[in-house]
Formats: sequence, C-alpha cells, structure tokens
Amino acid sequence: DELISQIAAGEVVERPASVVRELVDNALDAGAAQVTVRLLAGGVRLISVEDDGAGIEREQLPLALRRHATSKIGSLADLESVGTMGFRGEALAAIASVSELSILSRPAGQSSAFLLHAGSGELRPAARATGTTVEVKELFFSTPARRKFLKTDATELAHCIEAVRRHALARPDVGFAIWHEGKLVEQWRPATREQRLADVLGQELLEQSVAVEYSAGPLRVWGRAGVPDAARSRADQQFAYVNGRFVRDKVLSHAARSAYEDVLHGQRQPVYAIYLEIDPARVDVNVHPTKIEVRFRDSREVHQAVRHALENALAAPRA
Ligand code: ADP
Ligand code: MG
Repeated sequence: DELISQIAAGEVVERPASVVRELVDNALDAGAAQVTVRLLAGGVRLISVEDDGAGIEREQLPLALRRHATSKIGSLADLESVGTMGFRGEALAAIASVSELSILSRPAGQSSAFLLHAGSGELRPAARATGTTVEVKELFFSTPARRKFLKTDATELAHCIEAVRRHALARPDVGFAIWHEGKLVEQWRPATREQRLADVLGQELLEQSVAVEYSAGPLRVWGRAGVPDAARSRADQQFAYVNGRFVRDKVLSHAARSAYEDVLHGQRQPVYAIYLEIDPARVDVNVHPTKIEVRFRDSREVHQAVRHALENALAAPRA
C-alpha cells in the first residue's frame, strides 16, 4: 500500500509547487479568507500552508489522510457539478507518502485544536485559532531518485510563487502571502478583480490591456487581454481559468494565439487572464490527477467563443 501511495504521489506531486497548489486548493475549498504559505529551501525542506477556513473536526483528521477520502463529493453524479477545487481525495495521502506531513486544525465553534502527525499517527491537543495549518517537511526524503530531479531552491521557489499567483488571479477576494526563509516575498491583499490583476500582473501591463467580455449562449468568456510590446512581456503570462480553476489547455491557448495572430499579426506576445464559465456538465475536470487539464464536451464551441472573445476585445478601439 505504501508503494501504491508513492506511485500515486508521482502523479500528483512532481515538485514543491505541486504541494503548494494542492494545499492552497484545500484552503480555498475550506472557505479561507487569508492563506499564508511559508517555505524553506524552495519548499523542499518545508512547505507550510496556513488558512482561516472551516477547519477539520478531530474525528475527521485521520480520514483526511486516507486515500480516496474526500469530504467534498458524495457520489459520482456530483462530479458533474463539482464546485470545489478538490474532489479526488488523493492529495494529502499522496503528499504524506513522500514527506513528513502534519495537520494542525481547529474547526469553527470548537475551543481547541488538534495536531496529527501522518507518520506516527499521533493525535494530540494543540493551540491554534480557527483554521488549518498543513506542514510538509523534507519532500521526497524517502525517494532520493525523485529528490534528484528537483532544481535549485530559487527555481523551486519561483514555481511555488507561480502556483500561488494562479490562485491569486482566480480569487481576488482572498488574501495571500508567501514567506521564504523568514522573509515576505509576495503579498496580495484582498482586492477587487481589477486591483488584483494589477497587483499580480503589474499596473503597467494592466494599462496596456483591454477588457474581454463575451457571451455565446451559456458560455461566457471574460477577463483582460494585454497588448504590451512583444519584447517587454514575459512568455509565461497566459492565465486561463475554467469555472474558476486554473487550467493548461490546448484548445484555449490555441484559440487565444489565433486571435492575437489575426488581430495583431504576431506583433504582440499574448498576455492574458481569461475566465471561461461553462455548464459543468460540458467539461470534464477529472481527466488528470492534478486537475490542471480538462476535457470539453464540445471543444469547437469553446475554441470559437474564446477566439471571438479575444478578437473582439483586441480589435476594439482602445479606451
Ligand atoms: P480533496 O481535496 O480531493 O477532498 P485532499 O486529499 O486534498 O482531497 O483532502 C482530503 C480532505 O481533507 C478534504 O476532503 C477535506 O475534508 C480535508 N482538508 C484538507 N485540507 C483542509 C483544509 N485546509 N481545511 C479543511 N479541510 C481540509
Ligand atoms: Mg484537495
């Protein structure tokens, strides 16, 4: 079972940033208003994610670590309409199998917190305000082959920051902070959509961008498309979300590229944050363990909507 867990972990946990993403997903699913990420050595020595969400009941703590245990969906049918980031019940079990993991949590309405060490199974009372802290230490300590594939701390840190940045663009109402080696390296305070875009992508970029707003039947595409000089923009500033979930998707990126090509003839590097809202029954989010890939029931309809949305925005006279 240990081996099966470690194999499953390989699919979910590639590097510290994968852990950060899963833990922040959980914090957001718990309704957190503030999420604080603390890292040591690019996340390899320590990843701690602290939230002020609903917390976990003492009796539920061991369950949170069990494979395929999720509190978020009750049946396969629920998958059609899953509204939470998590639903597979895999992440914590997978992470625990390749690290030293502990969960400290105090549920709302309870007077004390409990600390569970995944390794020993020890559960004891502890102190904490309402919410949850998950600590992940010494990632891949028992799988040296994996650990060898990690890059420098600086690179792993950059990936961790990118993971939080993706969440930050999805949830402007939530505050995020990232600490590395005791220093605050990023902070995004709760903000309006516009302000969060400016905070994450940069005020300058936002000024050189246009609003995207498009509907085609039940499909809605909105967000912001940047038109900075190609030379000045970074290649990795393409953010696409499906029903609030960050995704990497060929249909979306191809549609966006086509629109930039059509309207700006490749003179500009695509820079965008676009949000697609679609009937959950028309998209499968359970394609990949990391849930970063999705499959659309009708990818042509999605491609057209995104392409039109961006073409209209980019071709409109700039205000
Ligand atoms: P999933 O998110 O797919 O349900 P996870 O392995 O990520 O699976 O988490 C397992 C369970 O642990 C969740 O369903 C949830 O009940 C609980 N949990 C994990 N992290 C938190 C958190 N930060 N706050 C509240 N509950 C949490
Ligand atoms: Mg989860």
